[in-house]
Amino acid sequence: MSHFYSEQEKGYEFPERDSSLLDSYAGIAKPESTAQYGEASSVSMHSGGSQPARHRLHSGQIDSEYDSHGSSLAYSGHGNIAGQPSRANYETNRIVGGRSGGGGDGGPGDSWPQAPDMRGERRRASVPRLLLCGLLHFIKVLVITILVILLMAAVGIPVSDNGVPFPGDYTKMEFDWQLDPRSYLTPFNASFTDYNILLDAHLHTIYSDGALSPQQAIEFSLANGFNAIIVTDHQTVEGSLAAKQYAEEKFGDRMTIITGMEYTCCRIHMNLIGINESIPVSPPFPSDDELRGVIDKVHSMGGMVIVNHIPWSNTTLLPWDEARLPDHPTREQLLDWGVDGFEVVNQGTFDLRTYQFIQDHSDKLVALTGSDMHYPGPSYAWTTINAPNKSAEAILDEIRNRRTSFLLDASGTRPVQDPPYNPNYFKYAPWGLVGDYFYGYADRYRGQYSFQATFCQKEVVNVHHSMIGWFFLWLLIAILVIEVLYWFFHWLILLVARMIRARRSRHA
Ligand SMILES: [Zn+2]
Ligand SMILES: [Zn+2]
Repeated sequence: MSHFYSEQEKGYEFPERDSSLLDSYAGIAKPESTAQYGEASSVSMHSGGSQPARHRLHSGQIDSEYDSHGSSLAYSGHGNIAGQPSRANYETNRIVGGRSGGGGDGGPGDSWPQAPDMRGERRRASVPRLLLCGLLHFIKVLVITILVILLMAAVGIPVSDNGVPFPGDYTKMEFDWQLDPRSYLTPFNASFTDYNILLDAHLHTIYSDGALSPQQAIEFSLANGFNAIIVTDHQTVEGSLAAKQYAEEKFGDRMTIITGMEYTCCRIHMNLIGINESIPVSPPFPSDDELRGVIDKVHSMGGMVIVNHIPWSNTTLLPWDEARLPDHPTREQLLDWGVDGFEVVNQGTFDLRTYQFIQDHSDKLVALTGSDMHYPGPSYAWTTINAPNKSAEAILDEIRNRRTSFLLDASGTRPVQDPPYNPNYFKYAPWGLVGDYFYGYADRYRGQYSFQATFCQKEVVNVHHSMIGWFFLWLLIAILVIEVLYWFFHWLILLVARMIRARRSRHA
């Protein structure tokens, strides 16, 4: 721009490097008198090159100005949208403006008799080019948009898979209440009125997939009215050993820890209680004999085997239309293999069928309840035991002799709390949520985790092809709407600007 004006200053030789469009104007754009043109141009320089200044000077030519500006502005608008304004276009526009302004003295049909015809030619020449530029611009926007979307998927999906930390920071949780379920609940067995132990026979810590440390698990259990817990982390007794040590040091007989683990595979989940050593779990689908071997081994170590959450294990999973744990042994088989009991309440689910089965075999089976706590929430059931003392051995002895009942409140306890937010979650969650968005375009079924680095069902992925098709259609429509709005407002602003200029010229 400055280059062009400086050439004007030097004597108004029109640059010869311009496009054919410029050439087509050369004949009429050249001033007949340098002085005449210089006058216009000097005003233009005064006003910083602004066109309204020229308008003021040549107010007799408002209509012609108006038209030439209209086409020139429309042209430059197109260049801007395409993102490829060419220098030639720009200068052509300027020259068009300069021609009208400079040639205004004599009025239309006087110094510039051919001007209206040339404008028509120019418009005709512009239309295909305008369409081509619009199309290229549209393709460019579409390609860039798709690339951005692919980039977001490439970053978001892996972050969603395993890059987002847990929202809550459980390490900072404290439990500052004290519940006494004895004050408002009576045992399921109404004659079981004397008891001194309120036991949670199934919970997890950070030694497997629980959220609380052994210390926190103890504090949470105490707050919810328990005075004994069996820590049963998946596949390991380590969590229970850590909890035992901590409870003995810190809580004395306020909290008794019974050691154990949850034997977890794709056929069954069993709590192995009263053992101090982890029992290896393998493979994900053990044979009947392998399961019997586990039961025998626990018995040889002085422990007991409690079969967990049969309703949960047998819940039908879609899309396979089979049990969560396929090929779960029957209660009869398990009784035959020598298990010691069943979990009759898991979280808030009371398993009446299993309870009745235990009633039918009350000489061989014991009923226990478990919160299966992974994250602190409401408590629903407390196993009641009347032990001669609060030692783990005394409690295990009562279980072995099948002298238990339980308190049950299916509504669950009131005091619950969320952990404070983990700041790291906010850091990575935006990308995780982007990944989650893309997962919405497919159903991915992985099935039940075996806790042995595999899944119990074969993965099924259903991609919603029509949803993806609709996404691109909506994207196309969105881009088109934005384009149309852009062009419309662009045109509107120019129109208003021209009207303002015209009004100023009239008043000048
Ligand atoms: Zn389980
Ligand atoms: Zn469990």
